[in-house]
Amino acid sequence: MRIKQVSLYHKIMPMICGKFSCSLEPGTETADVVITRVETECGLVGYGEAGSVGGYPNYAAGTVSSSAELIERHLMDKDPRNVNDIQYVMSLIDGHGAIKAGFDMACWDILGKSSGKPLYELLGGKLRDRVPIYRSIPTIEPEEMAQSVDDWRSEGYRMFQLRVGHGDIQADLQRIAGVIAKRKPGELFTVDVAGHWRRDEALYILNTVKDLDFTIEQPCWTMEDCMSIRDRTAFPLKLDNSLNGVQDVLRAYKNNACDSVVIQVNKYAGVTQAKFARDIAAAGGMGITYATQWGTEITGAVLVHLALTTPLNRFISTLDIHNYSSLTVATNDPIVVDNGFMWMGSDAPGLGVVVDDERLGEPDRVISQ
Ligand SMILES: [Mg+2]
Repeated sequence: MRIKQVSLYHKIMPMICGKFSCSLEPGTETADVVITRVETECGLVGYGEAGSVGGYPNYAAGTVSSSAELIERHLMDKDPRNVNDIQYVMSLIDGHGAIKAGFDMACWDILGKSSGKPLYELLGGKLRDRVPIYRSIPTIEPEEMAQSVDDWRSEGYRMFQLRVGHGDIQADLQRIAGVIAKRKPGELFTVDVAGHWRRDEALYILNTVKDLDFTIEQPCWTMEDCMSIRDRTAFPLKLDNSLNGVQDVLRAYKNNACDSVVIQVNKYAGVTQAKFARDIAAAGGMGITYATQWGTEITGAVLVHLALTTPLNRFISTLDIHNYSSLTVATNDPIVVDNGFMWMGSDAPGLGVVVDDERLGEPDRVISQ
């Protein structure tokens, strides 16, 4: 099977949650996504994408140009169904997951459509019918954060990620204590600092709230900083920002650096590397959360399929990222979200997402044979 044409679309994603804080932009209202459309000579079409915000994990304009160059120079002559071959070529370039993720996802989509199987079957088969999801609460005023958790609680969510670290540490203390002190039975809270605390700040805050029940995610910037905190507090530790791919998951396991990991499908270069990370983390006894840096139903479906195939005693949660933005590209309402869970609405092959090309508009780059 030969590739006929690859099109790349850079789309703006308005945020439903309002302002979102990230490392370089403390109050952005839009994210970006680069959608990759791979069309084969036999008419099969696959879709993938990579989201970004504030330069993380890559700037969208850079993702478009670098993806286009990678595809044009090295991938146009490949059979898109041979995801191992695609993966091997991509692995010869270190890192740069965001420029690889869209093409990798699109190839898995084509493999599924050509074989008539949904992605979860290609990943080894599902272990559950629906997956629990968490709701990410952006860094806002402490009392607003508590109200936001209450609102989502009434929608059926039982897992919450509180994003902190963009204000002063006293405000972070209020955010954590104010929300988690009201935790209901069965609820799971993660406090995501995205690396913004110094070691001394992390120790001060975590010791002050040591009687509360939550997982701390990426309290400090480096893996070594986080390990230092882990040795001196009792909280389960989740690593995210310091894991940029499979090699970092191996390093975290070797160093006993964390109790659970976040597998970011765009940063990890798509489905193939996320699958490797899933198996390594599961074999290493670590809890697994899947996430991504913004995305439409395309990435949302990838998250569902990966979550469905993750060992029951390793999987923690994922998120309905497609519900965080008003940008939608699917016509078939592919993902069902209800009462704190999500699942695919059908067993359609590949990702199971019917993309409306009209909504994609004019491509930013086209690569043809
Ligand atoms: Mg995080």
